[in-house]
Amino acid sequence: MKLPYAEPYRIKMVEPIRQSTKEERENWISEAHYNLFNLESDKVFIDLLTDSGTGAMSDRQWGALMTGDESYAGSRSFQELYQSVNKITGYRYLLPTHQGRAAENVLFSVLVKDGDIVPGNSHFDTTKGHIEFRKAHAIDCTIDEAFDTELIHPFKGNIDLVKLEKVYQTYPKEKIPFCLITITCNTSGGQPVSLENIKAVRDLSNKYGIPVYFDSARFAENAYFIKQREDGQQNRTIKEICKEIFSYGDGMTMSSKKDGLVNIGGFIALNNEEIFRKASNFTIIYEGFITYGGLSGRDMAALAVGLDEATEFGYLESRISQVEYLGNQLIEMGIPVQRPIGGHAVFVDALKFLPNVKREEFPAQTLAVEIYKEAGIRGVEIGAILADRDPETRENRYPKTEFVRLAIPRRTYTNNHMDYIAAALKNVFDRRNEISSGYKISWESEIMRHFTVKLDKA
Ligand SMILES: *Cc1c(COP(=O)(O)O)cnc(C)c1O
Repeated sequence: MKLPYAEPYRIKMVEPIRQSTKEERENWISEAHYNLFNLESDKVFIDLLTDSGTGAMSDRQWGALMTGDESYAGSRSFQELYQSVNKITGYRYLLPTHQGRAAENVLFSVLVKDGDIVPGNSHFDTTKGHIEFRKAHAIDCTIDEAFDTELIHPFKGNIDLVKLEKVYQTYPKEKIPFCLITITCNTSGGQPVSLENIKAVRDLSNKYGIPVYFDSARFAENAYFIKQREDGQQNRTIKEICKEIFSYGDGMTMSSKKDGLVNIGGFIALNNEEIFRKASNFTIIYEGFITYGGLSGRDMAALAVGLDEATEFGYLESRISQVEYLGNQLIEMGIPVQRPIGGHAVFVDALKFLPNVKREEFPAQTLAVEIYKEAGIRGVEIGAILADRDPETRENRYPKTEFVRLAIPRRTYTNNHMDYIAAALKNVFDRRNEISSGYKISWESEIMRHFTVKLDKA
């Protein structure tokens, strides 16, 4: 008999989680104004709100925490982190920050100005926030295939070179501080970008004299997909692939809460000395001295180890096959999901799941609330609420897709939890025709409204 797959780790510590009744959950979600971000965590049984900072650290990481060096300047833990980042990315300069958006804030303070254009593949929400906050514009150049959820394409995160070149031809070089490649592309469903595409973006950008940066939160997952799916990559290690990816960029911002395998942290790594100097000043103003950037020494020590573990094949295989395990169950049940299944999450296609709910009543949010009420599972809306209003016209923006993202924390839940999640979705799917009305906004903030929005039944 062929031996089945089993995870390359065992569990040393457990954390109890609490079940609740449907009635309790109906009250709680109404008190939370139908915004899942407003729920206290003990009111959630399985938390798939995000894979950001929610994973489990290894014994090696917990060991590293105890040997962290808390010196304000020149910490040994910074050196460990520098070595780890340099080994994986090849970049010369490192600035730690307290998380990924802080890295964006520091780097964009140097590079992005009023009226600038930043092309890329479906910019992440905080990234877009930091661009628009500076009165600059993010232009989405993702390939069209990414928006057809049923179409199978190995690299749905890819940048459309024709769209990108059009941006380069339309705007003067001085207005385009860089092209931003997000690996994997979170917003389009945790979809990878191919090495070939990254290289082509680099070549095209060189032709127009535009730098290339990576938003690299899930770079290791992206490298895993390259190894699995791209011709000629099968025999390379994840670390070799990562090194090549980063060689095509001028630098990166990182949310260490994803493929850093830690609960907090971020960083900027880059090659240009002048940008590093300028960014250092912003780091000191916003984050802290340049050898800690808002992190404690032990955070950096655990991150140094986490980056090494995240770029090992065995870890990535267990992580990504668990997400696939859940996704495949949903596909077998006939539930519409973004395909192929992404690296960190299953994206449920709410427009197909709930065709009776009007776009103005937020189908993905409606579905996320139903899944919570059904089973205490917390996912997140990636739809019109997240897409926010146009900064100039203040009109609601309706993206091409409406997803409920079920993000799987790293090394945290078992496949029994995946089975439970699949069963819950099946129950909601079976009664989908009874769900015909959604929600309306009763209060929203000016920017990034999804975190704090209040909703009423429509
Ligand atoms: C999470 C994330 C960020 C922001 O990082 P935080 O650590 O949450 O501040 C930026 N870009 C991408 C692609 C992300 O997934």
